[in-house]
Amino acid sequence: MAKNIQSVRGMRDILPTQSASWQFIENTARTLFNSYGYQELRTPVVEPTGLFKRAIGDATDIVEKEMYTFEDRNGDSLTLRPEGTAGCVRAGLQHGLFHNQQQRIWYTGPMFRHERPQKGRYRQFYQAGIETFGIAGPDIDAEVIAIAARLWKKLDIENVRLEINSLGSDAAREAYREILIDYFTQHQDQLDDDSRRRLHKNPLRILDSKNPAMKELVANAPDLLDYLDDESSSHFEGLKKRLDSMGIAYQVNSRLVRGIDYYNRTVFEWITDDLGAQGTICAGGRYDGLVKQLGGRETPACGFGIGLDRLQLLIESLNIDIPDQNPHAYFVLLGEQAELTGLQLAEQIRNSHPSLRLLVNGGAGSFKSQLKRADKSAADYAFILGESEMEASEIIIKPLRKALAISDQQSIPQSKLDDVIKNDILA
Ligand code: ATP
Ligand code: MG
Repeated sequence: MAKNIQSVRGMRDILPTQSASWQFIENTARTLFNSYGYQELRTPVVEPTGLFKRAIGDATDIVEKEMYTFEDRNGDSLTLRPEGTAGCVRAGLQHGLFHNQQQRIWYTGPMFRHERPQKGRYRQFYQAGIETFGIAGPDIDAEVIAIAARLWKKLDIENVRLEINSLGSDAAREAYREILIDYFTQHQDQLDDDSRRRLHKNPLRILDSKNPAMKELVANAPDLLDYLDDESSSHFEGLKKRLDSMGIAYQVNSRLVRGIDYYNRTVFEWITDDLGAQGTICAGGRYDGLVKQLGGRETPACGFGIGLDRLQLLIESLNIDIPDQNPHAYFVLLGEQAELTGLQLAEQIRNSHPSLRLLVNGGAGSFKSQLKRADKSAADYAFILGESEMEASEIIIKPLRKALAISDQQSIPQSKLDDVIKNDILA
């Protein structure tokens, strides 16, 4: 026999039994973003390779070794998007969304990075993010952070902490870069291979090293916050003041640098200790230079990306209550005539009760086998229609998982069904 084809390594199926928590997260996020006046932007999953090279930076992990890049049939180099911001900026420029305007945008969808698969790290993963354009002050940084804070609350997640930092202006970062190169060069013997490679290309990334052997060296490195320009400094103070006034707790982490080149000034991460090594569930910051770098005019911008896979793992591990998606009722239909009438009745019920989840038996079967299916469907009740109920214009309601508040009489006139659904089953 031929071997069954399996999914690509690091790319998962999300099965019907697992999708309830995904829908809960996605619906909650969508509603929340809309409630702050953000609107959805849907961009293609594939973009020209040059977009990500220019936006994310040549010396980053993503561009150096994580992108899914391939040649189109006409010879163009294309890449599966590894993140959402570059595409949003490309689309905004292409459709003239930036000039003299403010934009508040959200997106969600799959992203692709060729990394070593492990818990919380996949090759196809999902992000939901927001991006704001045209607002320069710390007020919007604070709003962006507040949206994430509110999302955790809505999802009933408590143990996440916020770390913030400021990367300053390009000039300040350039000056700090030289100081860092000096420092790490003096301790070159203590650098690991990755850091040695980054020393001249991207020394700030050394601060982000996860190698325990490098910990002390990194801890003693000069502090970025000591080299901030005045404007970035007061921007950072402005952000902290606003977070304080909204009651959003944070820690300043001067080693937080982020893995993507486009960030300046504010950067932040939301981190949980409940997921092990892959603890960052949301990351973002300000990227005032990106629109110009991709060919537009100077446009201040700020946003974040949430790792939905990690959020879903977190919700699962915390046993958080998510909205039930099991059917309210399973319609058992006995005999040919009942099948015809039942289909009609089911459609009427759906007209009157759009929020009722009603499953109608498929493939006929005996009473026993239909009830078995009803039970397997995890429905709260079975509606039963057979010959004698048809004759009497009645229907039987059999509690499967939930009791009925109506009388112990389970057989009711069909004309009363609407009331029972409204006042009892959906109540
Ligand atoms: P990490 O340090 O964990 O590799 P990153 O700095 O590469 O993260 P970002 O590019 O900032 O991550 O992406 C934002 C968020 O998307 C991350 O905080 C994380 O929650 C999620 N994420 C990133 N890469 C993956 C992946 N391969 N699988 C699952 N989630 C991911
Ligand atoms: Mg990464």
